[in-house]
Amino acid sequence: MALSAPDSTTRWRCARCGNLTRFDVVRTTSSTQYWHFDLAGVPSVEEESIVRDEIQSVTCRWCGATDTVELVERIERAEDV
Ligand SMILES: [Zn+2]
Repeated sequence: MALSAPDSTTRWRCARCGNLTRFDVVRTTSSTQYWHFDLAGVPSVEEESIVRDEIQSVTCRWCGATDTVELVERIERAEDV
């Protein structure tokens, strides 16, 4: 099952080793872009809107597990309160 991306109140956690900070993420993004070429033919992307954004898998960087990463509540840090 695809894992949701964390929002402002949640974060990822590896249930196997407790890792909270390092993950390898496989993600598929589709976007519509406005490409503006200069006279020499060099493009730059001046506008972009995301059409589709899916997370395929999240792998724990510490223990290498892929199916143990879960979404948990963030604990408020003292300086944020
Ligand atoms: Zn882990």
